[in-house]
Amino acid sequence: MSNRISHWIDGAHVAGSSGRTSPVFNPATGLRSADVDLASAAEVDTAIASAKAAAREWRSASLSRRSAVLFAFRQLLADNAGELAKIVTSEHGKVLADAAGEVARGLENVEFACGVPQLTKGGFSEQASTGVDVYSIRQPLGVVAGITPFNFPVMVPLWMAANAIACGNAFVLKPSEKDPSASLFLADLWKRAGLPDGVFTVLQGDKEAVDALVAHPDVAAVSFVGSTPIARYIYESGTRNGKRIQALGGAKNHMLVLPDADIDLAADAAVSAAYGAAGERCMAISVAVAVGEAGDRLVDAIAARLPKLKIGNGADPDSEMGPLITAAHRDKVAGYIAAGAESGARVVVDGRAGDVPAAGFFLGATLLDGVTPDMAVYTDEIFGPVLCVVRAGTYGEALELINANPFANGTAIFTRDGGAARQFQFDVEVGMVGINVPIPVPVAYYSFGGWKASLFGDTHMYGPEGVNFYTRGKVVTSRWPDPATSTIDLGFPQTR
Ligand code: NAD
Repeated sequence: MSNRISHWIDGAHVAGSSGRTSPVFNPATGLRSADVDLASAAEVDTAIASAKAAAREWRSASLSRRSAVLFAFRQLLADNAGELAKIVTSEHGKVLADAAGEVARGLENVEFACGVPQLTKGGFSEQASTGVDVYSIRQPLGVVAGITPFNFPVMVPLWMAANAIACGNAFVLKPSEKDPSASLFLADLWKRAGLPDGVFTVLQGDKEAVDALVAHPDVAAVSFVGSTPIARYIYESGTRNGKRIQALGGAKNHMLVLPDADIDLAADAAVSAAYGAAGERCMAISVAVAVGEAGDRLVDAIAARLPKLKIGNGADPDSEMGPLITAAHRDKVAGYIAAGAESGARVVVDGRAGDVPAAGFFLGATLLDGVTPDMAVYTDEIFGPVLCVVRAGTYGEALELINANPFANGTAIFTRDGGAARQFQFDVEVGMVGINVPIPVPVAYYSFGGWKASLFGDTHMYGPEGVNFYTRGKVVTSRWPDPATSTIDLGFPQTR
């Protein structure tokens, strides 16, 4: 008998009624642990009706009350971080320390949102015209939805929900059907923090629920994080329906290593960023671009490190890398290794031959050298523990390669030359840049987002841009005239 994972509507668990479900696995054992309900369009309607009613009340809650709920939620999240990390590991497979890291980065977003009174302050201009004051206010949108990927089942929902709720909206989360349990744990924490019922909703589901949310007339805005084809689809269908959309897509993050870099430091960073979470991170390094004589030294240094990686069940504190999310995805990634070899890449370390547990969806760490931009291992987002090394003759050649790539989420440069690093920061056409930092996920008081095929829309996620996304501006022009001075004037108003 497997467990059933259902929805959270109006502050309570609600069993699905569509009759459709999807299996949930523990990727470390390969065993099916639960079935998750998949919402129908009718269930989406029910949830949105509850969220709409809640949004009307919640926008009237004072800033200090909203802030107090956020502070209480922050404390509950911190107190329950360990348990939440275990849930993430059991359905995603990432190791416990990594799951705890994702909870901690999500927590940062909640801490940022605790400052909502400061974040939503408007401007005020006294005497803009004689006896006239002008001021700006920011108001919530109403019901907003978040559609999230499997690879960060806590952090990405919190990127969205913390600011959306702090700004006075009702937030409807459609988590990944591959690891849905964390969303219900978060829902329970929100309730315990004093959030009114209906302000945070969880609708489990797949394309049917997503399509219903993106078309629903009472959903004002949609935040999406996932793969590029779906991000583009959400952006196009959502904007066609008149909604505000931010849709973050896939990635192919390049790490540029100059000959003057500390190669041991660069190799440690490459291994951490390429194989952490088995490469299933949107900010994972998947391509190392080695310039000149950095190439051989870097490949040797990375290859020497890979056999020492401890691959195993993420629940075991000794494991450094866990399994992939599903058997099908593991097989797809293995297929890329074969395709890389066939197209002429040198398989320096072959993860298919790695020492990994027999049960579960494991694949060893793989290093491909001599990769060229025409190969599928270079053009496609593999989203697994495969690092491609591309050799470049010069900095200019390496930069051209990075800027020609359609993905532009993150990138990093490794060098000891401050001038070269500064030039790279100026030249590179990528949304998030690391200088000797391989995974430059911005802190919560900046905003997160790539360029080009890594983000559709014009607003990055969380931080100040998140607050803007979840609110709309209103400008008030105000005058309290002496009735005795009143006249008729058909001319266009001017400031005097
Ligand atoms: P995905 O695109 O398959 O799924 C994301 C969400 O969309 C899920 O909730 C899923 O149920 C839904 N979905 C899937 N197919 C759909 C369809 N045809 N129509 C409507 N909705 C659909 O992504 P994933 O496999 O869960 O996550 C991995 C991807 O997410 C990678 O490409 C990764 O780079 C990307 N990602 C990007 C960022 C970023 O910030 N740019 C962050 C995390 C993950």
